Amino acid sequence: MKKIKVDWDLCESNAMCEALAPSHFQVDDDDFLQILDENVSDEDLANVEQAVASCPKSALSLVDG
Ligand code: SF4
Repeated sequence: MKKIKVDWDLCESNAMCEALAPSHFQVDDDDFLQILDENVSDEDLANVEQAVASCPKSALSLVDG
């Protein structure tokens, strides 16, 4: 299973990832990104991969869990 990794120094909470994979990413009321579930099932992998690739800050990566 893959896991989501965030480089918190790079993330600027613009919520691109939330738009593409709301099952795993949510920007909260304080404008801080929350990872709802760091584990990515095969079912969600395509959406999360798209979110990772679309992050304008390249703050996201997927690692083997
Ligand atoms: S798309 Fe990237 S910069 Fe934007 S909130 Fe998600 S991880 Fe952070």
